[in-house]
Amino acid sequence: MLKGTITSSGIGIGRAVILHQAENAAHPIHVTDPAPELLLFQAAVAEAVHEVEALRVRTLAALGEDKAAIFEAHAQILQDPEFQAQVREEISTHRLTAVEASRRVSQTFIRMFQEMDNAYMRERAIDVKDVTGRLLRKLQQIPEIDLSSFDSDTILIAGDITPSQMAMLDHKKVKGIITEAGGKNSHTSIMARTLEIPAMAGVKDATTLIKASAEVILDAEAGVILWNPQPEVKNDYSKKILVLEEQKRNLLEYLELEPVTADGSTVSLYANISSPQDLASVIKNGAQGIGLFRTEFIFMDRALAPTEEEQYLIYKSVLEGMKGLPVVIRTLDVGGDKQIPYLRIPTEANPFLGLRAIRYCLRNVEIFKTQLRALLRSSVHGRLSIMFPMISNLEEVLEARSLLTEIAFELKAQGVPVSADIMIGIMIEVPSAALLADVLAQHVDFFSIGTNDLIQYLCAVDRMNESIKELYDPYHPAVLRLIGQVIRAAQDQKIKVSMCGEMASLPGLSQVLLGLGLREFSMNPASILRMKKLVRATKLEDARDLSKKMLGLSSGREIKLYLDSLVCI
Ligand code: PEP
Ligand code: MG
Repeated sequence: MLKGTITSSGIGIGRAVILHQAENAAHPIHVTDPAPELLLFQAAVAEAVHEVEALRVRTLAALGEDKAAIFEAHAQILQDPEFQAQVREEISTHRLTAVEASRRVSQTFIRMFQEMDNAYMRERAIDVKDVTGRLLRKLQQIPEIDLSSFDSDTILIAGDITPSQMAMLDHKKVKGIITEAGGKNSHTSIMARTLEIPAMAGVKDATTLIKASAEVILDAEAGVILWNPQPEVKNDYSKKILVLEEQKRNLLEYLELEPVTADGSTVSLYANISSPQDLASVIKNGAQGIGLFRTEFIFMDRALAPTEEEQYLIYKSVLEGMKGLPVVIRTLDVGGDKQIPYLRIPTEANPFLGLRAIRYCLRNVEIFKTQLRALLRSSVHGRLSIMFPMISNLEEVLEARSLLTEIAFELKAQGVPVSADIMIGIMIEVPSAALLADVLAQHVDFFSIGTNDLIQYLCAVDRMNESIKELYDPYHPAVLRLIGQVIRAAQDQKIKVSMCGEMASLPGLSQVLLGLGLREFSMNPASILRMKKLVRATKLEDARDLSKKMLGLSSGREIKLYLDSLVCI
């Protein structure tokens, strides 16, 4: 049995698929006899070329010449005489193993491409990384795993899974995700919750202890993992899954009911999404709109940024899909744990404190402008709000707004229609913005409180770091005080305020938030009906008393203990 942190609740049963990372796998560095290594290298290249060619043929048939061309480029890289000569040289002269020699030469080539002046060539670095990764897997006999299609119900087990790998996932077949690294607040975990895939992180040695194809039970209710279970144990778990499904079905009685408190105040419950595919779940769970569309995910799983036209069609489809309900689309929040190689963010010592989100966009205005144009063009297809992430000062708000105005002006001059009713808002997720909320509120139409980042920046605790996870504390009185302050600033300036961080769906805390005056909540679609049930059972008067009481306590532990002791839904 293994244990770990539950990042997305539920129970999943399936066959283990292990995702090994070839680049980091342990391997011998030196050999005494280079001859077998040279042969190994030659065979691995041939095998990788063969695979790439098969992929080219398959892609050509399924997706056309454009998409297939990438595999032609991959074959060329593998067969590049210079690349091959350098690897052979490393093996023969420095007595390196074929794996180590290939790893070193690959890194040199990736760096060389990344540093090229020509933008097109720079973007090829991702292809080099991709195809040399394949070569390394061949050399280490690590099986290829196609994340976009699995043969049977799968429990995916990995050292870690990046948000872009999550974006590729054949999620209907994935019954659970287990990672050795990662934590509750990573984007990978947030996506697992949106997709309603049970997941656990921080599960030590999972990739070595559990063997490929073993039958695995991931109990992300109790926080345990079992493999090769006895039939009666599996039977018990199958029954538990049925009970969970029944509980979900029972919540459906709330689908048509309004989210009003027991004493008649209206609350709005919106959904967070990261792709148009999430709309089905948004509608199934009766969300009243989209409170956060994380657009960076449409930039992932591809070799180049989506064009203006591609983006326009995506935004249009979401706006149309929501049939006039409000849709908040957040501009590109790249950086931090959301790395997109072709955007070429330099390696940083502290990516979460670095070139992220609006900071990246204001320094790479061509990418930003393309997105803003696509957004403005899409605005006539629904009720659009545009939101800027990671604002930390007033200048960023003014600069982003001025770019938006400039583009709207250009579009109108070209005769392209743009809605006159777009609301412009900002994320409040950096403490400096939260403390300056009274000033910032004078320049925007709405705030959305991003507690995932606000907590990490306020408490100085990396949202991804499992070893100090207890310090990442949504119950911290400083967090509650600051949120209260932001809500009041918005109310004073008569602008809207919502919350789209994960805290918005924590049962006890959401009652405190209601008491602090919050009326708009955005969360993963699967949490909406449970939240509606809770809202309908809450009296605002009680929520106000509760928030006063909680603000009077001096530690997160006390607050959590008190809230956990309440009967929660
Ligand atoms: C947040 O920080 O709370 C948020 C919603 O943004 P993200 O999780 O995408 O950083
Ligand atoms: Mg954030």
